[in-house]
Order: sequence, then structure tokens, then C-alpha cells
Amino acid sequence: MDYIIATHNMKKRDELQRILSPLGIRVLLAEEAGVELSDVEETGTTFEENAFLKAESGCRESGMPCLADDSGIAVDYLGGAPGVYSARYAGEPCDDDANNAKLFRELDGVPDEQRGAAYVSVVCCVYPDGRKLFARGECRGYIGHDLIGNGGFGYDPMFYPVEYNGKKTMAQLTAAEKDAISHRGKAVREIAKQIGEIKE
Ligand code: IMP
Repeated sequence: MDYIIATHNMKKRDELQRILSPLGIRVLLAEEAGVELSDVEETGTTFEENAFLKAESGCRESGMPCLADDSGIAVDYLGGAPGVYSARYAGEPCDDDANNAKLFRELDGVPDEQRGAAYVSVVCCVYPDGRKLFARGECRGYIGHDLIGNGGFGYDPMFYPVEYNGKKTMAQLTAAEKDAISHRGKAVREIAKQIGEIKE
């Protein structure tokens, strides 16, 4: 069975495809499937709601099983903000540089031990017969004081994953290193397991 990915974020799309393809799950981008998916307004207040909105709409419009991810960064000191609003933290249109600058401002003067954060990803898969699957992945770390590294996207140059003990930001990891520990890597591997258990 072919799956379609509903996201306009090229970097996220690459990550989803990169992680799912070796697991034997054939994922197509909307253009590869010859369909055009509408923009979905992310009106939910949880990652689960928004992931479902995107996957349901993509499935309805394409007639194919559709995968979508909703993700963001939850900063402890900010009570979990920006959370589901991560992409548009500094307003619209979404701008990674402006978002990073705003997060630095909000954490100005906050000491290292209070700069803990978690990346969260929820992946949802909706099937034309109405079945739906959800998987959630988290990656703990903390927010640094400068932008370091050129890889990844979004908040990666300011995020130090715990696995690298303050030595590397997410933006300094190779794609494979990021996938191995990332919120999206965890969520996608979990949903791949659930997909494998579905009888076609
Ligand atoms: P979404 O497209 O509504 O799910 O928004 C996700 C937003 O969360 C992105 O635009 C980034 O700001 C942030 N984000 C999610 N995952 C990552 C990641 O792996 N690295 C950096 N930023 C991320």
C-alpha cells in the first residue's frame, strides 16, 4: 500500500520519508501521487488534534492513507510554550530566524539549569476506511545561548539534546544522528510498527 505525506515543510517531509522508506513503507509526496492537498488550518490546541486534522484532510483529498506530523518545542521555563504554536511563535508568515530570536529574548537571563525543553512530535495516519493511528515521540534537551550549526531546521541550532551532553546542538548532528534520537524519529518508528501490524 502506498502512503501519502501531508506537509508543506520540505525538511519535515525529507525526515519522514528518510525514516519510513527503509522500513519498507512506500511514502509519496502529494506531487508524486499527482494530487494537490489544501492547506489545513491548525486550529487544534494539542499536537494530536493538529496531526489528525492534517492527516484526515490529506486522506479525504487523495483517497490514500495519509501520514501527517505535528510537532514543536515545549520549554519548561515557559510552561510548555511555544508548543503547538512553535512554527508561528513570532507571528506569521512563519520565520525560523524570528522564532529563534524570540525564544532567546524570552529566556534572557534564565540560568542554564532552568533552560530545559522537549521537542515533541505526534504522527497520525488516517486510512480511507476511517482507521486512524497515532504515535508520539519526545526528545529532551536544553536551550543554549547562541545559534550553533547549519543542519536541521527551526530551533535546531539552539537546542542541545541530552544525548550529546551539551557538546552538540541538534543542528550539528548528521541526518542519521538526528533521526536516531529525535522526537520525529521516535514517533515515526513507532507508527511504522503499528502500520506493519495492520492487515492490508
Ligand atoms: P508544524 O509544521 O505545525 O508541525 O510546526 C512545527 C514547528 O516546530 C517547526 O516549524 C519548528 O519551528 C518546530 N520544530 C518541529 N520539529 C522540529 C525539529 O526537528 N527541529 C527544529 N524545529 C522543529
